[in-house]
Amino acid sequence: MLTSICGINWGDEGKGKMVDLFSEDYDIVCRYQGGNNAGHTVINERGKFILNLLPSGILRENVVNVLGMGMVIDIRHLTEEIAHLREKGVKISPENLKISDRAEITMPYHVLMDCLEEERLADKKFGSTRRGIAPAYADRFMKKSFRMGELLYPEVLREKVKEIVAWKNLTVARGYGAQPISEEETLDYLLSYGEALKPYICDVGLYLTGAAKAGKNILFEAQLGALRDIDYGILPYTSSSLTLAAYAPLGAGVPNLRLDKSIGIMKAYSTCVGEGPFTAEYFGEKAEALRKAGGEFGAATGRPRRVGPFDAVASAYGIRCQGADELVLTKLDILSIYEEIEVCTAYELDGKRLHDFPYPDLLDRCKPVFEKVKGWHTDISKCRKKEQLPQAALDYIAYIEDLCACKITYVAVGPERDAVIRMDG
Ligand code: GDP
Repeated sequence: MLTSICGINWGDEGKGKMVDLFSEDYDIVCRYQGGNNAGHTVINERGKFILNLLPSGILRENVVNVLGMGMVIDIRHLTEEIAHLREKGVKISPENLKISDRAEITMPYHVLMDCLEEERLADKKFGSTRRGIAPAYADRFMKKSFRMGELLYPEVLREKVKEIVAWKNLTVARGYGAQPISEEETLDYLLSYGEALKPYICDVGLYLTGAAKAGKNILFEAQLGALRDIDYGILPYTSSSLTLAAYAPLGAGVPNLRLDKSIGIMKAYSTCVGEGPFTAEYFGEKAEALRKAGGEFGAATGRPRRVGPFDAVASAYGIRCQGADELVLTKLDILSIYEEIEVCTAYELDGKRLHDFPYPDLLDRCKPVFEKVKGWHTDISKCRKKEQLPQAALDYIAYIEDLCACKITYVAVGPERDAVIRMDG
């Protein structure tokens, strides 16, 4: 079974928790895009973990974790993340962690360029996480990047460093007027952080193909959501990677394999970190109340998230982009604060009602159309069975299913691993 877990909205839907839960039935968990701009929060019996680069399956002993070729990997961050997990008793070895030799390395100069560009853009900034993701992907397409596999061949690396540093300084030093990058420091950085990672680097495509042939179950863990996809999202307020399920086999390193299932993780209300149009946004006290109830502050950056009610227009688009076969509705417990719950059911553009997500450039002119449904206004965080949910909560779930034309198979009602209700069982 090859399954993808992906985000339907702007990210932060609670994918980490669901991957952690579902990984019980999987042998391998694979990240296939993005880098350490991800912040997946997992809470289990061993404590709270925030994972930026490592797949959420790393917290299960029998799961093999793969960092796929579609990723951009900050090797210093990865080294620190591994050390931090080890301190908390998580076992990490080449047996349970495999890193694609074709994945790109995010360099310190990528982080620098990310910051320089956001500062240059000033009030027109893209809202980057400033972790070097966009510059790293840009270099990949310029064919001027370092790949993980090169860490195994220092002679190749030495030659390449000379060329890349000279080229990079044309932009860093001559373009932005920043301090030039040093050839020696770049090589030292790669060799020193690369050393400890060498045993994990391999052809993960070969490994995954063999595993699939042997009948192993593989879970592909996406980062961010459909609306942050570089091609299908709200450009330029997107990530620089492909966040869609369709990219999972390619980004993991197995273009020869097909997904069996795409599970979309969708939040019971909307959140968005950073800049860009966010049609159903709440402001003022209304926003403050929802943000506080949901603890909506970025796991990777600590930034307060923008919040709003469930957006059926954007979510239906996200479901289509992700080709979701089924949905998990997360954080339903947070809506317990309301006696009446608002839902954005349409957008209004120049006096016309839109139900289909428009071309992104039109979003600035779209106004949300809110409808109200009855709330349950009671704590549901201890519910573990469908029958324990109040009728108003069941009605809300059915209403969302109807708006999105997709089945909700699980509902999450708390951050803990077991705070999940199966809806189709
Ligand atoms: P991800 O990037 O999609 O993995 O999402 P994040 O980890 O950034 O955000 C999800 C946050 O919500 C984490 O702090 C989770 O522990 C928490 N969480 C996940 N599901 C639920 C839920 O159903 N209810 C509540 N209250 N918290 C949840």
